[in-house]
Amino acid sequence: MLTPTTEPASKPRWQSPDEIEQELTRLESLISTIRYRQAELIADIDRLQVPYWDGTRSLKEWIAGRLDIHPRTAGDLAVVSKAEPGPITDSLRAGAATFDRVAATTRLSNAGADDETLQRSEGVAVSQLGQLIARTKRMAPVDEAEAFRARRLWMQPNLANTLSVGTFAMSGADADQFLASLDQRADQIIDPNDPHRPRLEQRRVDALVSLALDTTIPATPSGEGPAPRRLKADIFIDATQAATTGGETGAVTRSGLKVGPNTLEEILCIGETQTTLIDIDGLKAVPTDGDRLPNRTRDYIFYRDGACTADGCTSRYRLEPHHIRHQANHGDHHPDNLTLLCWFHHHIVVHQQGFRIDPNSPPHRRRFIPTAATRAPPDQ
Ligand SMILES: [Zn+2]
Ligand SMILES: [Zn+2]
Repeated sequence: MLTPTTEPASKPRWQSPDEIEQELTRLESLISTIRYRQAELIADIDRLQVPYWDGTRSLKEWIAGRLDIHPRTAGDLAVVSKAEPGPITDSLRAGAATFDRVAATTRLSNAGADDETLQRSEGVAVSQLGQLIARTKRMAPVDEAEAFRARRLWMQPNLANTLSVGTFAMSGADADQFLASLDQRADQIIDPNDPHRPRLEQRRVDALVSLALDTTIPATPSGEGPAPRRLKADIFIDATQAATTGGETGAVTRSGLKVGPNTLEEILCIGETQTTLIDIDGLKAVPTDGDRLPNRTRDYIFYRDGACTADGCTSRYRLEPHHIRHQANHGDHHPDNLTLLCWFHHHIVVHQQGFRIDPNSPPHRRRFIPTAATRAPPDQ
């Protein structure tokens, strides 16, 4: 908790843009001199080994906790507190350089930059200094080996159990290759010129899922018969709960993540799910198979439609039959209730973005209409 020591200065009645800019710059200079003093004090804290005796992992962690600031700023303060006195720290004390620039320049100096590079850095924007530091920093074979050993892919449910959240660590070259492949795949799934396409980070997840699907169950080359079914999904449904909330509660995957009615419908469309009904008395495991789309109907839909029926779509990537009226809404497996959609239209547009097929659109020029679950497109 901060204790304000001074009353905020009263705001002048009117300031020109130039005056506002001057005051902002003057205040930033003041912040620099304050940060300099903090760095001095932090150096004392470090010398007295206070972080260790307070049970914190590092000086940075101690600063972040005690000052209630972002770890990035805490890291900058720790770096500046350990800087050798010299022209860089002098410019901070005098308020002649901003704290962010001094922190970055100190890191650049620590990375082994020579005087000429340090001088050149004055003409580089603070946001770009990170790249200069990365270029300057020595990467010896032992550092490379260390970085390679630290590679990992780790996923765990978020607190609400609605998403699996991952952490990736990989070498710079692998990461560049990885992202380039994802972006290329994303552009194959969704037209890069579509102004309403999902955000880049969302498209990358779609691309990753699609690459994973292709690895486990290769997509058939376009036009060569039905796409293979997806892997079996195990869903555990508490029937009593699911029935009273329209499927909004009660359904979880094997790994414990919740799934909602839209995902349940998608799984039912694909027809390769193993649902296990459970009830409050415990695991009365009852595998059910009744909702499965019969193979012959499935084959007929592929024969009849042949390609994605979305109006204007020419994709044949991972075609899947979709129930126009959802099964939860008493939709059945009658061919009139089924239509063939590509993976983008089925998985992303219908079952993720929550659009539904306009039942009045022609069978091979299907249009989509938003539902209450559909959100506005992201701002580009
Ligand atoms: Zn579907
Ligand atoms: Zn399509």
